[in-house]
Amino acid sequence: MKLSDVQIKDKYDRTFFENPKAGQFHVYNRSYRFQNSNPETHVNDIYNIMQTYQENSKPKILAFLCDNGPDFNPASLNVFFCMGELWKKLDLDQLIICSYAPHCSKFNPIEIAWGTLSQALAQITLVSDHEKYQYKNNDEDLKKLFSQAQDELSDIWSKTSYAQTFVKCTNIKPDSKESPYNRYEELKDVLKRGKNHEKNIEYKENIQFLLTHCVKRAYYLHFKKCQKSECTHCKGSPIKNQEALKVLDKFENQLPMPILLEDFYNSEKYPSFLDLINNESLLNRYHQEREKYINKAKKDNIICTKCEWLYESNADLQKHKRYCK
Ligand SMILES: [Zn+2]
Ligand SMILES: [Zn+2]
Repeated sequence: MKLSDVQIKDKYDRTFFENPKAGQFHVYNRSYRFQNSNPETHVNDIYNIMQTYQENSKPKILAFLCDNGPDFNPASLNVFFCMGELWKKLDLDQLIICSYAPHCSKFNPIEIAWGTLSQALAQITLVSDHEKYQYKNNDEDLKKLFSQAQDELSDIWSKTSYAQTFVKCTNIKPDSKESPYNRYEELKDVLKRGKNHEKNIEYKENIQFLLTHCVKRAYYLHFKKCQKSECTHCKGSPIKNQEALKVLDKFENQLPMPILLEDFYNSEKYPSFLDLINNESLLNRYHQEREKYINKAKKDNIICTKCEWLYESNADLQKHKRYCK
């Protein structure tokens, strides 16, 4: 998205980018019984979607809006690790994950898109011949049944259109090996056992690298390339989108926090991103309030004094300190 893209006003006179609703809608079908989704499977799916772009049109910044489910909650160290790996592997300038605050999932575009998918299934009987299979205690038969159901689902959804394109379905079959990452059990084990795990050092180095390239707040994770000459990863492949970097400069290199400002919008509405960029006095007020917020977090002892990561609880902060240099 560029600053010159279409900007619109809301009824409070706040400026926003016109939300582009069109775009390819991807659905990944997994059989829950054999392949549960987790932060790593999401990363694999996103990685594979990115491979469908031509090399010169691959996005350099990815931003995710998600709910607070356990496999996409930015507060989780597992999500942090998997997303950090994706940011590295795709050689992205930035990767941002924001999740909806509690009770706000209704604004999530994916929830709205799901309506179209369920509608396409209304009054349809899947033709999978389940009676043919004695599947109750037989995984092999059950796998065949799931696989057939996946084919039927994608057959229906591939003919369903959403935002002027047909839905793109990918089936992850019960026995298929997921790629590029396939080590989630090991990751969980390392994060749980810490220094008692033989691979702890290898993971720890990686986590420490990621920590120096990430900002965390409530409902927000933001990975970005640094500009340090001693950083092999970032030096090897410099930042492509300099415009985005210049804008972020205004906000200490991260997206602005949602902060209500007394003198603006009757202190009832959060200022928009574009208003903060375009209005100097609004930006100054934002920085004053942010400063207060950070000082309070320091007083409440829920901020890491080394990297300024903000936490909701002291227990989470202590877990983080195991890795923060
Ligand atoms: Zn770097
Ligand atoms: Zn820290």
